[in-house]
Amino acid sequence: MSASTSRGGGGSSSGASGSGTKSRGSGSGGPCGACKFLRRKCAPGCVFAPYFDPDQGATYFASVHKVFGASNVGKLLSKIPVHKRLDAVITICYEAQARMRDPVYGCVGQIFTLQQQVLFISNLQLRLPVI
Ligand SMILES: [Zn+2]
Repeated sequence: MSASTSRGGGGSSSGASGSGTKSRGSGSGGPCGACKFLRRKCAPGCVFAPYFDPDQGATYFASVHKVFGASNVGKLLSKIPVHKRLDAVITICYEAQARMRDPVYGCVGQIFTLQQQVLFISNLQLRLPVI
């Protein structure tokens, strides 16, 4: 796994699939990935629907639900301005998956590792002879 890489920024496909920017709602048929996982009806205006598609979204939502709980994440998202929710979903997915891989440190383990690398590199630079 790419545990030591930086956060999958750029909103690429690291977590939530923001494939379609048009909010799917529960428009054409099936539930969103979150509601599919929770086996419930996807109501119009479902807070998860724009970010969790029915296929991969359900897989990501499984770890989000296991770590944070669906209702907590739903409440959290509804308090965030809509234009910032995608970033929140991406980081929540990232954190949940890190916690699944490393139940003790989660993504903090990755932060510690990176901090140590920064310290190591800055110590190296201190020891380099000044030319
Ligand atoms: Zn839904």
